[in-house]
Amino acid sequence: MESVNCQLSTVNYTKAILNILTQDIKYLQGVGPNRATLLANDLNIKTVGDLLAYYPYKYVDRSRIYKINEIDGTMPYVQLCGQIFSFDSIGEGRNKRLIAHFADGTGTIDLVWFQGIKYVAKNYDCRKPYIVFGKPTVFNGHVQIAHPEIEPAPEHLKTQARTTGNLFEEGALNANLQETEMEAQPTMFKGLCPSYNTSEKMKRSGLTSASMAKLTANMFKLLKESLPETLPSYITAQHHLMSYDDAIRNIHYPSSPEALRHAQLRLKFEELFYVQLNILRYVKDRQLRYKGIVMGTVGEQFNNFFYQHLPFQLTEAQKRVIREIRADMKSGRQMNRLLQGDVGSGKTLVALMVALIAIDNGCQACIMAPTEILAEQHLDTLREFLGDMPVRVELLTGSVKGKRRTEVFRDLVAGEIDVLVGTHAVIEDNVLFHKLGLVVIDEQHRFGVAQRAKLWMKNSVPPHVLVMTATPIPRTLAMTLYGDLDVSIIDELPPGRKPIRTVHMFDAHRLRIYELMNRELALGRQIYIVYPLIKETEKMDLKDLEAGFEEISRAFPNYQVSKVHGKMKSADKDAEMQRFANHETHILVSTTVIEVGVNVPNASVMIIENAERFGLSQLHQLRGRVGRGADQSYCVLVTKHEIGESTRKRIQVMVDTTDGFEIAEQDLKLRGPGDLEGTQQSGMAFDLKIANLARDGQILTIARDTAQSVITSDPEERNPQNDILWRRLRELRKSNINWGAIS
Ligand code: ADP
Ligand code: MG
Repeated sequence: MESVNCQLSTVNYTKAILNILTQDIKYLQGVGPNRATLLANDLNIKTVGDLLAYYPYKYVDRSRIYKINEIDGTMPYVQLCGQIFSFDSIGEGRNKRLIAHFADGTGTIDLVWFQGIKYVAKNYDCRKPYIVFGKPTVFNGHVQIAHPEIEPAPEHLKTQARTTGNLFEEGALNANLQETEMEAQPTMFKGLCPSYNTSEKMKRSGLTSASMAKLTANMFKLLKESLPETLPSYITAQHHLMSYDDAIRNIHYPSSPEALRHAQLRLKFEELFYVQLNILRYVKDRQLRYKGIVMGTVGEQFNNFFYQHLPFQLTEAQKRVIREIRADMKSGRQMNRLLQGDVGSGKTLVALMVALIAIDNGCQACIMAPTEILAEQHLDTLREFLGDMPVRVELLTGSVKGKRRTEVFRDLVAGEIDVLVGTHAVIEDNVLFHKLGLVVIDEQHRFGVAQRAKLWMKNSVPPHVLVMTATPIPRTLAMTLYGDLDVSIIDELPPGRKPIRTVHMFDAHRLRIYELMNRELALGRQIYIVYPLIKETEKMDLKDLEAGFEEISRAFPNYQVSKVHGKMKSADKDAEMQRFANHETHILVSTTVIEVGVNVPNASVMIIENAERFGLSQLHQLRGRVGRGADQSYCVLVTKHEIGESTRKRIQVMVDTTDGFEIAEQDLKLRGPGDLEGTQQSGMAFDLKIANLARDGQILTIARDTAQSVITSDPEERNPQNDILWRRLRELRKSNINWGAIS
């Protein structure tokens, strides 16, 4: 009887909490219809539950009250306690501002408002004790605080605030003995106080961080009962995690720095755990649902190529990854593998040899590149490698039009094309294969899980998928971005390559740069000069490129100079690239269109102008265009003389190492995962609320292992202790579009 009661009450209580969490944010005290619209539009907060999950981005220590004579303009936020002794209104119209002279017995400071002047004048009085909070700045040699937060001082601080007034006017304080109606706000004076991000628009309407804090405080007034747990107790016990209820309360209003750390740990773990559980659960489903085409034979084409056409020995690393891929292909499971290998490590060849295995097993293969130039280059490379072998390779990109396109479509579905090379165009629904057995996605970290999933529909049994990337990805990022893939790594460059020598030079060193160029040109080498693309304006800043082209043409009259940029017609661009590849031109001045994959082994110098404008992985990609032959190559990073600390660090990383993995780790550290190229559209987990892949690698590893052991130990999902966890996962999938798209 007792246990029934107990269960009943649990149900009721959960329901009550649920009712609050699903309640429209509009009805929360302090919100109303206007703010509700703002919250929904700008922060996607529609319910009380959404507000609960909107964590502060930082905390301000309010445990300390400073004295005015202690502060200066270099300090971060400070809290003062004292009184306003007079107001001044200065200026007219737009320049109008209100100044409150504020004193605490140790000195005076000006509080300044440019907006909301009427409100301030009406709501704050002279001679009353206030707590003031803000960032001190220096203006005309005086320390001031603009737009401070200001609230009546709580009881225990009133005396302190008042004694200070005596400095200005004896006995003037008797006037204000009746402020008992002023209640200290719960958000103030409490030690660590939350700061919430709000949009500019919200700030203009008065929805500042401080008003958000009032809303969250109101929310917790409603949430009297404990929030239901979101992880099974055996997992929280195993990792000594705080309860969900404690964690949520402490993440908004930490009771101590220690409690905040525990709360952060708990919520980061939970977040990463569910991301990983989602990925791994999906991998399991995929394995159950889809069989793979069994490719048991290594036959005529592969052997013919290997023994008759391969122009050099495979590196040990290439052999190893081909073995790994081959094991997948004959396993009866669908292969989903990531091939990581630094620039120049010879991935294209691996792709070709794997494609030959597919062909030997009666299938077609398809190789996708991110750009038309690269697709065309792959086409050429493959045809050259294959020589007179009876393997038909064709191209399909946006530029393949009319009759040609119709032919490709026709021969593809008839099974007369063995390998189709192309851009995104190849996965469009109208492209039909006879029997597609393998898809290779090259240099394509912009290809999310959901997009990959689309490929599987191309054949009754889904094709094997190999994703190749030359941008080494830090382990933590790979685990999330490519968490559903098995990984192979080419950790060795073909023999005889000399490490590229990288130097940092300033604009002013032009002559030394020309010297290097002349020397290399005289040796018969070729040179790339790259200018950055100005992304923010969404069009290219061609001025630098044009000016550079003119200057170089003048400085090197005996050599041919090519120019390539993204605004050129595709055919013209290709023609110029081709001229450079054929050694008809000696210097190629371009924007980043040459970034990935372009292969001209005779080029030995890469000059990157305005190197400060590039990200590390981009610099690494660009540098990888040289050092492809046996000769010493050089990379020159040119910057202006004054560069910031973070730029200096990035350049130094490039000078110090050519190891792509090291560079990727540094990049992640210096920039954070949100900025990493390609991650935005990854379709998985990048709207992390609290965890940070750059910093929380350790938590991620534990979360991944924990998720894996849940899947392994409870494959049928029968363990009642895990019910809570599958329920939560379903909820998360529903509320997160990206997660849903892959399930
Ligand atoms: P990436 O991995 O950057 O795509 P590529 O496939 O473009 O590298 O290969 C870079 C260069 O190295 C190409 O010219 C390729 O022909 C050559 N290459 C590939 N494998 C070997 C090898 N085992 N020995 C010598 N050269 C190789
Ligand atoms: Mg490549």
